[in-house]
Amino acid sequence: MAKIGFIGLGIMGKPMAQNLLKAGYELTVYDIVADRMDSLVKAGARQGSSSKDVAAKSDIVITMLPNSPHVREAVLGPDGVLEGARRGTILIDMSSIAPLASREIAAKAREKGVVMLDAPVSGGEPKAIAGTLAIMVGGPEETFEEVKDILARMGSSVTRVGDIGSGNVAKLANQIIVALNIAAMSEAMVLATKAGVDPEKVFQAIRGGLAGSAVLDAKMPLALKGNFKPGFRIELHIKDMANALDTAHELGVPVPLSSTVMEIMQALKGDGKAANDHGGIIQFYEQLAKVQVRE
Ligand code: NAD
Repeated sequence: MAKIGFIGLGIMGKPMAQNLLKAGYELTVYDIVADRMDSLVKAGARQGSSSKDVAAKSDIVITMLPNSPHVREAVLGPDGVLEGARRGTILIDMSSIAPLASREIAAKAREKGVVMLDAPVSGGEPKAIAGTLAIMVGGPEETFEEVKDILARMGSSVTRVGDIGSGNVAKLANQIIVALNIAAMSEAMVLATKAGVDPEKVFQAIRGGLAGSAVLDAKMPLALKGNFKPGFRIELHIKDMANALDTAHELGVPVPLSSTVMEIMQALKGDGKAANDHGGIIQFYEQLAKVQVRE
């Protein structure tokens, strides 16, 4: 059984690493915040002293970090993965980062004989705990085939989308669709409430039709309770939308709806709501219309 290293044990990384441990893999873990390693070490993982150390003790290294600069630092930086890796080590970056950054990091890894996959996820903490994430993968087919069973311990849907960077392109598409869906739901439900109609009844009336969606089913019940506890924080979605806008503009693709939702999220951040769940986008509309969508 392959020895696995896991770097980045935050909201997502910790339960994902736990699922690999449960599946019986020998695991070495590392996070710059030392106490994030405690529960995994108690459950049988080895504690690494740096990303380099993790790579030296592993055949496959997984990273689950906030954004491109963190992945660059942990992989390319001093005491990073490439310092400890050997020819044949596989690096799977499961963070959501800019696709162009994935390509750059993969090229540097390749110089050292390390093959990289980008494999960002969708589904949030509950699905990370349940091991039912959707995982979208970019990179060489043969490497994907080699690690597919490992990824299947963390996700119920594991899809190779294409070459390196494709996983993060799919993730950006995912994040655009989710953000715009939440904004559409918010706009519609605030209008319904202002019109004097019960938003819960509107939700029930439309959820089985064409306007129904996974986003509506996940976020509307929470909006009705005014529950914006994360989940997926607005500040992380701002990070993804910034990557989407940068990537789109570098490729010369206009994304007018994405830029509007980005500004809505920036307004909420300015209002001290960056740590709210992204379902909290509805608060922007509530403030404008001076009405609250609540049961
Ligand atoms: P998080 O901030 O909770 O965890 C990130 C962890 O990385 C932290 O524990 C931090 O200490 C550690 N870290 C940062 N730099 C490091 C370094 N150089 N070396 C070692 N450790 C380092 O973030 P999260 O919510 O777990 O998200 C991780 C990634 O997954 C992000 O790219 C996010 O966009 C994506 N994602 C998150 C969710 C979600 O619902 N939270 C859902 C899907 C995808």
